[in-house]
Amino acid sequence: MLLQSERGSFRGAAGGLRNRARSDCKVFPSPASRKSNATTVSEGVEKDIACDSKVHYEFGGPMGVSALMIGFPLLMSYFFICLAVNHGHLENPLRWDFWERGAPTMIPTQRAIVIYLSFNLFQFITAATMPGIKVMGIPVPSLGGKQLEYLCNGIATWYLDLVLVAVLHISGWFPITIVVDEIGPIMSVAMLWGVFVTVGTYIVACVLERTHRMSGSIPYDMFMGAILNPRIGTVDLKMFSEIRIPWKILFFISLSAAVKDHGINVERELQAGITPELWSFFGGLIEIYKIKTSWPLLFMVLAHFLYANACMKGEECIPTTWDIFYEKWGYMLIFWNFAGVPFSYCYPTLYLLNQSLANEPINHPTVYTISLFVILLAAYYVWDTANSQKNRFRMLQHGTYVQRNSFPQLPWGTLHNPTYIKTKHGSKLLTGGWWGLARKIHYTADLVMALSWGLITGFDSYIPYFYFTFFIAVLVHRVGRDHVRCKEKYGADFDEYCRQVPYVFIPYIF
Ligand code: NDP
Repeated sequence: MLLQSERGSFRGAAGGLRNRARSDCKVFPSPASRKSNATTVSEGVEKDIACDSKVHYEFGGPMGVSALMIGFPLLMSYFFICLAVNHGHLENPLRWDFWERGAPTMIPTQRAIVIYLSFNLFQFITAATMPGIKVMGIPVPSLGGKQLEYLCNGIATWYLDLVLVAVLHISGWFPITIVVDEIGPIMSVAMLWGVFVTVGTYIVACVLERTHRMSGSIPYDMFMGAILNPRIGTVDLKMFSEIRIPWKILFFISLSAAVKDHGINVERELQAGITPELWSFFGGLIEIYKIKTSWPLLFMVLAHFLYANACMKGEECIPTTWDIFYEKWGYMLIFWNFAGVPFSYCYPTLYLLNQSLANEPINHPTVYTISLFVILLAAYYVWDTANSQKNRFRMLQHGTYVQRNSFPQLPWGTLHNPTYIKTKHGSKLLTGGWWGLARKIHYTADLVMALSWGLITGFDSYIPYFYFTFFIAVLVHRVGRDHVRCKEKYGADFDEYCRQVPYVFIPYIF
């Protein structure tokens, strides 16, 4: 395992800058910021180094993160069992018979191990080998301002996945419905894998002395991570686990559920003596049953497709994000991406499928369903364009902007000559486009999408709303954390930014 060195000396930052000016990697100051005066830039560098190296306990410190590391898998198992054996209704988790009834639905099987690990391996191989654009990350303070290169081939691997899944399903080699048939065991394998990778990465980072910003508390460092830029060859494992695994699995779970639902409904019609309607192509050469999946399940397929597709098509924006730039690769990112996101954000899908299996499919009045489709698409538009406006603005600033044509490029995704605040730090804070309306409007749009995933299931179970409620907590925490960091980094300029853009989530309200 070739791990990127974390041992850039803070003191050596200036020297590092000079040395790297002669090497192939880009350093502070970026081409765009070179125009700013030297005092401002070195002030910015020092502030970045100070922010990047400071250890302060979050999530309740060692005790808090220990509780989270034990609590997450238990909570996921609890909700899964409620869905599997109790129609999505919550049950007393202290009752032994609850776990006795539920445990068999999630015991890892050999097939689940093969499915999950082959998927991960295939994703890794394609991440390492498929063609894609290369973008530079933002200068890493602990590496003396070095900018790492990221191969962004997500969109190529995504299209390959879609074609392969279709071929495997149609040929009968791997019907996609196996995913939901094996969902409990696969989830257990994913959780075990998340823990295994967390512990393994922590040990490797310590043994190879590649640790960064360590607190000295083992549980805390295990949770937050020990290493900042874990790499195998050209593959950045942090970006790989954040982009390639969770959202693709999430989409394939929903696709699997929709195909399964379709099969059940066709079967029911045949059993009732009804001949299901056919779609005929090429003058009758190919005939398939008309889609019989419920609208709510189709909604989930669309919702998860949009999310997964957005991550792949906009992958070049990821290297400049907080997770890649600052967060280390620990339980928080590892477990959550390998297991948490795909197997807890899919609850609405599993609930809808289970209702259909129990012959109590969820359907809503047409106007309700159409409204949710409109809300989903509108929120997606704001989320996609707000993220791309800011990320492209930052990429232009760092000289890493690359023009993309991956589908769909939405209008207003790139701002031309937007307003901004030039900070003493050297960076610019965008105040144009969506970013002039509210400081975290992309969070609001993301939350609206999360809410729509719950609303499409109706109101009989809390579990499909778990993602929405959990996500509120995550984003509120992120807002507070980001505010503190930006205040520290930008000082009075950040106060001026908050004055110019006073609203956080909803323009003119709060
Ligand atoms: P942000 O996109 O809000 O990134 C915050 C950073 O962006 C700040 O620290 C600052 O960094 C920079 N920034 C903030 N405001 C401005 C501005 N006006 N102009 C220029 N730069 C600015 O946070 P996240 O990385 O948390 O979120 C990215 C997306 O991912 C969101 O849409 C979020 O909803 C989504 N997300 C989804 C999750 C899920 O589980 N579904 C989980 C977490 C996030 P700098 O120091 O460079 O100035």
